[in-house]
Amino acid sequence: MSSLPVLVLNSGSSSIKFAVYEAGNGERRKLHEGAVDGIGTDLGKFWIKDAEGNKLVDQTPALPNRAVAFALVADALHSGDFPAPVAIGHRMVSGGPTVQENQRITPELIDEMESYTAFAPLHTPIAVYIMREALRLFPGIPNFVILDTYFHRTMPEVVTHMPIPPEYAAMGVRRYGAHGISYESIVYQLQPDVPRKLIVAHLGNGASISAIRDGKCLDTSMGLTPTGGIISGTRTGDIDPGVLLFILRKIAETAESASAAADQLETVASKKAGLLGVSELSNDMRDLRDAIKAGNAKARLAVDKFTWTIAKWIGSYVAELGGLDMLVFTGGIGENDIASRAEICAGLGALGIVLDPVRNNVRGEALISAENSPVTVRVIPPAEDLIIVNHVVRLMGA
Ligand code: AMP
Repeated sequence: MSSLPVLVLNSGSSSIKFAVYEAGNGERRKLHEGAVDGIGTDLGKFWIKDAEGNKLVDQTPALPNRAVAFALVADALHSGDFPAPVAIGHRMVSGGPTVQENQRITPELIDEMESYTAFAPLHTPIAVYIMREALRLFPGIPNFVILDTYFHRTMPEVVTHMPIPPEYAAMGVRRYGAHGISYESIVYQLQPDVPRKLIVAHLGNGASISAIRDGKCLDTSMGLTPTGGIISGTRTGDIDPGVLLFILRKIAETAESASAAADQLETVASKKAGLLGVSELSNDMRDLRDAIKAGNAKARLAVDKFTWTIAKWIGSYVAELGGLDMLVFTGGIGENDIASRAEICAGLGALGIVLDPVRNNVRGEALISAENSPVTVRVIPPAEDLIIVNHVVRLMGA
């Protein structure tokens, strides 16, 4: 296959990240990357950098809505200043029970994925909006959906099935997991020596952890939605369902309708909880570490809950895998927060996880376990764009 520019689109609730890769003949080279950030504000950010990191576009436009934000990206890519894409890959958190395979996007497929918005309520609305816009603004160019749930499709039924009445299971309620493209990229980077028993902790603003056997997902912490699993920036993680019922009944006392009450509960569980809810300060680990240094007890409690939960989850995955060869930290906290890695691993010596404090004192890719640690511990940044490009190239050839 000759060289082709592939556009990767990765949208969040208030941002659209993008990158253009030159792909072909086994080569993957990033040409440009950029982002539109601050959708819904008067002072957004729009930037594009070349592969060397030089800023080619650096603007602070008003971004009243998604349409304005994505038009900036499309206009730049149509301007002739950047190579126009010949294919587009869209990251998608969940396509629900019926869209499990990475594939070419059609208007009907977008409608189908949109019908499962409840499975990733914070991510799906903007993702499907951008897919429709991309089909309109880049006519004739093939678009592909690359799913976070794809990596988790190998989980056995005992893991994916949830203990609920069958009528809800029939609606697709089960464990799907998230961050799958990140996990896939860690396994990809470990090739050809993928350890048999691997745990990867993706610790970012959203945090999850996966048990991976022979390169395939065995279990993951997020559930039907990214709100499940370990505590993260603004999300509860797994919690006694009675807590949600208690909060829902309180909300229902004043809510205008059942659906307004459900929306409020979602805001509580997904946007106001987690590190933010416990610390009453911030969902950002850097702020929490600063606050801890200043003696803030609530910030200390929030971070302790975070590290303690992850350590417990690692223990359960070691049991599930029947041992452990390697533990990998990734994501913004996993890559950069030296103290979180040390605190998570501090009590895990009995499982063969022993960090070297000097090796651990780094940010970015590193081997951080002690020389004699039975389990190898590494930090590996995710390479999600690369995985998306690889799938797009594979699907283009198919
Ligand atoms: P992500 O969602 O992967 O971008 O990760 C975001 C999280 O990484 C936030 O909680 C940040 O505070 C955290 N993070 C990023 N850089 C650092 C750093 N240098 N030290 C500690 N935490 C960091």
